[in-house]
Amino acid sequence: MTDRVLTRVKAVICIYCGEVVVGDIEVMDGAAEAIRESFVKHDEGCTQNPIRTERERLRAERDLLRAAIALDAPALLEVLAEAEHTRWANWMRYQQTAPAEKRADWPRKAALAYWGMTNEEQESDRIEARKTLEIVRTYLRAAVDAFDKEG
Ligand SMILES: [Zn+2]
Repeated sequence: MTDRVLTRVKAVICIYCGEVVVGDIEVMDGAAEAIRESFVKHDEGCTQNPIRTERERLRAERDLLRAAIALDAPALLEVLAEAEHTRWANWMRYQQTAPAEKRADWPRKAALAYWGMTNEEQESDRIEARKTLEIVRTYLRAAVDAFDKEG
């Protein structure tokens, strides 16, 4: 026969909402873990628990920032597409006024991969890439600002 001790638990009461989580019961030795688990379960779901409230606020913030950095907002796509059109239109205008020696070099440049160009040649592409980065930066800042206003 194993030794089993009967213990009386008067009550386990939530400090936030005052609910009696475990009432006046008698338990066999070893049941303490089950009592603790039922209290933890109440604690995690207790609407008066400030830690639970803060955890939910932080999860909402995390979800909003995840959505922002996924960069799949239709408005962002439109702003980037607008920038592409502007880039193309500027290129079309430049083509008509570019010096003949520049134009003569375009087939060579067009045949090269970005990594095959000189650093100076790459810089003109970096200038355009920086414009795109600024659009993305502006979008991410606006997403964070919108969250700050909500919170
Ligand atoms: Zn509670």
